[in-house]
Amino acid sequence: MRLLTLFDTHAHLDDPQADELTVLAQLRDLRAAGWRGAVVAGYGPERFARSRELCAAEPLLRRAIGLHPEWLAAAADAAAREAAWHALEAELDGAAIVALGEIGVDRRVRDVFPAAEQQAWLARGLGLAAQRKLPVMLHIVGWHGHALEVLRQGPLPQGGVVHRFSGAPELVREYEALGLHMGISLEPREDPVRRAALVQAIAADRLVLETDWPLHDLSYPESFVKLLDLAAQVAQWRGVDRAELAAQLARNAQMLYRLDPPHGCGAQAAE
Ligand SMILES: [Zn+2]
Repeated sequence: MRLLTLFDTHAHLDDPQADELTVLAQLRDLRAAGWRGAVVAGYGPERFARSRELCAAEPLLRRAIGLHPEWLAAAADAAAREAAWHALEAELDGAAIVALGEIGVDRRVRDVFPAAEQQAWLARGLGLAAQRKLPVMLHIVGWHGHALEVLRQGPLPQGGVVHRFSGAPELVREYEALGLHMGISLEPREDPVRRAALVQAIAADRLVLETDWPLHDLSYPESFVKLLDLAAQVAQWRGVDRAELAAQLARNAQMLYRLDPPHGCGAQAAE
């Protein structure tokens, strides 16, 4: 049996490959399957308009915006990165945003975007998030040491989430000590024993679940159903009943993104 309801804490519903009207129709239908909303995770300025439109049309959506390390690595030059930073600041001025991100570090792009530069951009993101009183949505791949070095220097007053965390269970307490939540996503290829150990290492009030859609060739509704299955598995691993887990996950998402009181991002964006 699945969980009854779930909020997806990280999904790229503004993906340019997806058809906007199809996504919105799917979200409307998904309410009956227990979908209680999602945060549209930020990638780069080209997606601002799409995420703004989606949020204006679907009241259960919230927006995060940021400059993903992959986006920064692929940018043509320093001028393009600076222009994107200014676009990010401007978007924060005019729209309702629940988190700054994705921001972070990614070892896979180190050849074109060296560690020191990635750390400098992460630090810059933390500064902006603190200034705007927002939590951060962190993308950290491979370089946990580099990331922790920056995060420990802060500022990190509003906390945030290490999204799609699949590192060692020992790292969980390092991130939790900084006030961060831990995002667990669909990882179909991962060993279930390792996964269980990781999920059990996370404090009850820091765990959040996410699809991180798009994923393989699954539609968003297919991914959401898989997330409900994952949640049922998580309840089993943690030895709690599904209703208790559903309530805890809802509280955690609310704490992380300050979802209460509800504020549809469309309303404010239109002002
Ligand atoms: Zn993502």
